Amino acid sequence: MDYILLKASEHNVIITPFGGGTNVVGSLTNDNLRNKSAIRITINLREMSKLIAINGAEMTATFQSGILGPVLEKALNEKGYTLGHFPQSFEYSTLGGWIVTRSAGQASTMYGKIEDLVESLKVATPAGTIHTPNFTHDAVGINIMPLFFGSEGTLGIVTEATVKIKKIPRHKRWVCGLFPNFEAGADFFQEAIQNGVKPSVIRLSDANETALFSKLASEKSEEPTFFENLKKEAQKVVLKWKNLDHPCLMMMCLEQFGPNTASQAVFAKSLIEKYGGMVAPEIIGKKWEEGRFKTPYMRDTMMEHRIFVDTMETYVPWENVKEMHAILGKELAKSKAFNKEKGYFLAHISHVYASGACMYFTLFTPMQINREIEQWQELKNLIMNVFMENNGTISHHHGVGADHQKWYLKYSDPLSLEVLRAVKKQLDPKNILNPGKLYNV
Ligand SMILES: Cc1cc2nc3c(=O)[nH]c(=O)nc-3n(C[C@H](O)[C@H](O)[C@H](O)COP(=O)(O)OP(=O)(O)OC[C@H]3O[C@@H](n4cnc5c(N)ncnc54)[C@H](O)[C@@H]3O)c2cc1C
Repeated sequence: MDYILLKASEHNVIITPFGGGTNVVGSLTNDNLRNKSAIRITINLREMSKLIAINGAEMTATFQSGILGPVLEKALNEKGYTLGHFPQSFEYSTLGGWIVTRSAGQASTMYGKIEDLVESLKVATPAGTIHTPNFTHDAVGINIMPLFFGSEGTLGIVTEATVKIKKIPRHKRWVCGLFPNFEAGADFFQEAIQNGVKPSVIRLSDANETALFSKLASEKSEEPTFFENLKKEAQKVVLKWKNLDHPCLMMMCLEQFGPNTASQAVFAKSLIEKYGGMVAPEIIGKKWEEGRFKTPYMRDTMMEHRIFVDTMETYVPWENVKEMHAILGKELAKSKAFNKEKGYFLAHISHVYASGACMYFTLFTPMQINREIEQWQELKNLIMNVFMENNGTISHHHGVGADHQKWYLKYSDPLSLEVLRAVKKQLDPKNILNPGKLYNV
């Protein structure tokens, strides 16, 4: 790889590293190239997919970077380990792609984001190879490794990574609940997480998303019997009686290798009641887990039916979580790009921290024919501006790419950008790796 990059640099050939190709913010496009006539090469890393070693004594494993999620996880599971990294794009994304986009898996509230799971990296750059030290618990000056987290292919090609592994959990249980509103569910999570509940997967759906899930689930079941209908009616009465006619569904998965998860579950259930909620059956979480990688497959069918679909995500401190949901709903209702009668605005919280949460929004609205791109731009601008004005970040896990670059450049501190440009100049003096991306050189 060093040789390819060296030669490409000598001949000014532009290189785009390609992992799984699942990026959703335009990282892989080269539309804004200054030198339009430059030769461009895409390096497909998928053949670099070997397990190099598992070190059980140190609980680490080294892989080539082009390995896909399921292949990596299978290799670890066979030895009793897991990485615990399951982004929704798990089936088609790669270890290298996760690292350079700072990906978050669905279980990252417990396992950590990918940057928490990496022990060391081997990175090929046009200036040579960097092999970061093989341990992270030292105090030997500045650690260079984090520079590559989020570098989106601009500083070098990650060729190998040593990751921190865990034993496969022996105890696993779901705690589910219904809350009268999104705010009560957010308060529940804030208190739970700040008082020692450590779930792997968490999800709090707003009332729209809960209603859609419940409709999809009921349409899957066979012809309902008289007793099932009776049960449904009884459920409706109980929900109304508990003030839960438009409930918000909460699911959390507790998993552990060692001691049992029961005490956390008891505590979490007492908090559900404290926030006016009702404990719901564990099966809801198990069913969600079974189908968790399937929903994105609906996107293309919807687009074919001229339904605009997009998802956007941000990290928000707790004090802004509740108003972010309300403000976004209000702003969308005012926008001409969103059809407030026919459109759907769904929200959920997908990762929680002591300090705040990742909020994830999904939009469906009729496509405005012949102005699809403008419609997308209007909605994207609206949402990103609401994020920025309400203490949100540009992204929690999708990265910067081309789509978020203007906000990244506007909101980054100028000196930090200059430092990053200087690093880029040192590692990639001819600017052949994803030029124009991130810090815009
Ligand atoms: C349906 C769907 C669901 C998603 N869900 C999640 C989610 O839950 N969590 C999440 O974090 N993300 C999610 N994503 C976004 C995406 O999957 C992640 O950004 C993922 O980390 C990208 O990995 P990849 O291997 O596909 O990288 P690519 O898309 O191939 O590349 C992304 C960027 O990284 C660069 N690159 C790739 N590999 C390397 C390498 N080895 N060295 C240097 N540069 C490299 C590329 O040049 C590009 O700039 C989702 C995407 C989709 C389509």
